[in-house]
Amino acid sequence: MEQQLIDSFGRQISYLRLAVTDRCNLRCQYCMPAHGIDIVDRKELLTFKEMYRITRVLSELGVNKVRLTGGEPFVRKGFIDFLEMLDFNDLLDEINITTNGALISNHIHKIEQLKVKAINLSIDSLDKQKFAEITRRDVFDEVYKTLETLEKSAINLKLNIVVQSGINTNEIIDFVTLTKHKNIAVRFIEEMPFNGVGQKAVKEVWNYNRIIKEINDNFKNVEKLIDKKSSTSRNFKIANYVGTFGIIPAFTRTICGDCNRIRITATGLFKNCLFDDGVFNIRDFIRNGASNDDLKALFLSLVAKKPKDGFVAEKQRNSDVSESMSTIGG
Ligand code: SAM
Ligand code: SF4
Repeated sequence: MEQQLIDSFGRQISYLRLAVTDRCNLRCQYCMPAHGIDIVDRKELLTFKEMYRITRVLSELGVNKVRLTGGEPFVRKGFIDFLEMLDFNDLLDEINITTNGALISNHIHKIEQLKVKAINLSIDSLDKQKFAEITRRDVFDEVYKTLETLEKSAINLKLNIVVQSGINTNEIIDFVTLTKHKNIAVRFIEEMPFNGVGQKAVKEVWNYNRIIKEINDNFKNVEKLIDKKSSTSRNFKIANYVGTFGIIPAFTRTICGDCNRIRITATGLFKNCLFDDGVFNIRDFIRNGASNDDLKALFLSLVAKKPKDGFVAEKQRNSDVSESMSTIGG
């Protein structure tokens, strides 16, 4: 049998999250400071060819699903060509994308023809003014247009909402109500300190338990759905509503048990866990002449050291969690 990526807890890795850039056209408060992050020199970013090669090698080791993220994937020149290139990898079943949706409306038709099964669209408020405050950019109309176009397309649409205490918690009910007639999966994400600054003080902690309480207090017919293995969210629906909703316990980390994911940042740092601080620089390894067999051996040895959960990964770091999600790839 072909070699597979299996960690010391028996978890099989089949899902790569690849950040295609650290650049972004928005400045979301929970992700980066108003002046942005210190972006790296262009030549420090993985090239699309390098990304293709890394993905191919990983797919030969059992990775069959890739999520392209960033930064904002659509700000990188040539991203659509890269999608088309990746589509040729016959070992990949799904190529998914996480995007802020401000630059994609012209590309949706083309993307529909590819192996792009799902798009996660980040939209933290349904109020134009509040959206502008959160993202520090005035692009709500364009993002909402993307939402409506994607909802009608063949691509599955998930909405990502980072629940921010005192900012958008009063919209949780509005987002659930959106699933009444729209065929979408709304997902509430616990806010994490990946914002370029670090942990901030909040009046009230909006974790998984608080979010589900808010929903249970406001809807009578909340039904629990059966979660797919390795799902990042706990999923529900309101009886008779078309869409579903879920909660991603990103910070309380109760989903690590059957994690099937690894990450590669835009500069080629390999991450076994969102909470580790990058365990190997793949870019330099490749640029120093590594063969595909060298890469395979490397990936097998890295995955063997995948920590049990996000708490163990965080303990092993050299510095506190404060880097921007934009550099990690959310
Ligand atoms: N720019 C794209 C976007 O916003 O969808 C892709 C990259 S973004 C870093 C990926 C996801 O991470 C987004 O859904 C975003 O809301 C989420 N995210 C960013 N910072 C976060 C934080 N501090 N806590 C929780 N989620 C965060
Ligand atoms: Fe950009 Fe996405 Fe971060 Fe917002 S969450 S600043 S859109 S990378």
